[in-house]
Amino acid sequence: MKNNNEKIKVSHSKGIMPKHKFGQNFISDTNLLSAIVRDGEVTPNDTVLEIGAGEGALTKEISKIAKKTVSFEIDNDLKPILLSQNLPNTQFVFCDALKEDLEKIESLLGEEYKIIANLPYYITSPLIFKFLEGSEKLLSMTIMVQKEVAQRIVAKEGGKDYGILSVMIAFHGDAKITRQVSRKMFFPVPNVDSAVVNIKIVKNKFDVNKENFAKIVKGAFSMRRKTLLNNLSTALKMSKEEIQQKLTHFDTNRRAESFSVQEFVEITKILLS
Ligand code: SAM
Repeated sequence: MKNNNEKIKVSHSKGIMPKHKFGQNFISDTNLLSAIVRDGEVTPNDTVLEIGAGEGALTKEISKIAKKTVSFEIDNDLKPILLSQNLPNTQFVFCDALKEDLEKIESLLGEEYKIIANLPYYITSPLIFKFLEGSEKLLSMTIMVQKEVAQRIVAKEGGKDYGILSVMIAFHGDAKITRQVSRKMFFPVPNVDSAVVNIKIVKNKFDVNKENFAKIVKGAFSMRRKTLLNNLSTALKMSKEEIQQKLTHFDTNRRAESFSVQEFVEITKILLS
């Protein structure tokens, strides 16, 4: 996300110089921030994980409602601002949330939790995958992402936006866009608009091994222009004849983008069990 107004370097609110390298595009509109927390259906019984505290504006809205909030921030320069706010039942952790061990993060949270975050654009996908694939305690993710990523998250089979991200999210839960957010709501103003996406985790939504499922899906989409047959043959190191013999009910000359999540589940069961 490149900043349009890179000449304006200092944040209007707290004298902070936003860092492009950390994807720092801050929001100060409290109506929008509280709406994001509402989209996440946070209640006084909830423990919340925030990734990317920034100046703490969203953290503050979360902490007004949640029982407990743990918020990660990579930028040590934001420490004085964040620690001086004395937010109730809130712990700030200064490290890279992507590199931090998931078990360690979850031990700080202590119980099942919801993620609420205005995500730094450059770690959006790896972060979603880290929690989606690794966590047993995550209940939902309500995240601000670039509009184009939001469209990929909720895409259905057959469209150009449908890909690994759409399939893996639909496998683990139910996703919807809860609001569109104009680029003008951020400081500095980025080059693209954003959207808030809510992903509710549905445990054991499909009765199939999740590592095997991920292997099939990632293999199937490895070369977008190739057929399912070609991609799976390379990814699984299986001959095309063997795959075709096993997948007699499928037209394996279709491309991955035309297969539904349910079809990928069936293919996984046939080829990898
Ligand atoms: N929550 C604030 C808001 O809504 O105004 C800030 C959102 S800003 C888009 C993203 C924040 O994530 C920045 O403060 C940035 O420093 C932080 N960040 C970037 N990469 C991170 C990482 N790997 N781990 C933790 N925080 C990170």
